[in-house]
Amino acid sequence: MLRISVGHILSCCLLICFCATGLWAKERVLQQSILDLQARIESYVPDERYRDDAFGLVVVKDAIVSLKAGSGGIGACLVDAKTGEVVERGRNRQYSPHFRSDMHGEMDLLNRYEDRVQKMGGGNSGNDPRQCGELILFTSTEPCPMCLTRIINSGIQRMYYINPDLDGGMAHRMEQLPPFWQKFAAGRDFRQAECSPRLQKIAEDLFRHSVRSFAKQKE
Ligand SMILES: [Zn+2]
Repeated sequence: MLRISVGHILSCCLLICFCATGLWAKERVLQQSILDLQARIESYVPDERYRDDAFGLVVVKDAIVSLKAGSGGIGACLVDAKTGEVVERGRNRQYSPHFRSDMHGEMDLLNRYEDRVQKMGGGNSGNDPRQCGELILFTSTEPCPMCLTRIINSGIQRMYYINPDLDGGMAHRMEQLPPFWQKFAAGRDFRQAECSPRLQKIAEDLFRHSVRSFAKQKE
């Protein structure tokens, strides 16, 4: 016959309290870390010695919004190189308001741009909807394979990322794309942006905050 003593009950209660306190402390550390990152971004002034610093700041400002909303810390924007204006902004929305496996920052950005301008053409129409003029895509972290092929397919010729992603980024291994995509991407300018080391570290920390915990569970 199973006998439960007062000692057993007390031990269980203590264990539950211990685990709950641990989770609460972990959550507090996480929230404080996000607030620290936000403070670093808010106090950052673009460094004129680095050509892309101002646009780098634009994308990390959107990345922290994503992180605070529970999604990945990645932001992206489109800049008209002729005017220097930011014409579209996007950010990771993978986990908020609900799970969307396609909603990486660059995908959100291009969805917004293409839905807004609603180009017509393709096929035998004679219009090329991939004409993007002088648009430059900036993103806070190097695009994954999905986003890189989307950027290639969009027609955008220039893409600069702030933080390199050696594990999951595709831009530094273009030669591993399927042959069609390699030819389609030929001549494009895809590379790391010219930003200060301090801004690059902010972009990296934003990315690492949310990076692939679901995949780490399999390791
Ligand atoms: Zn992606």
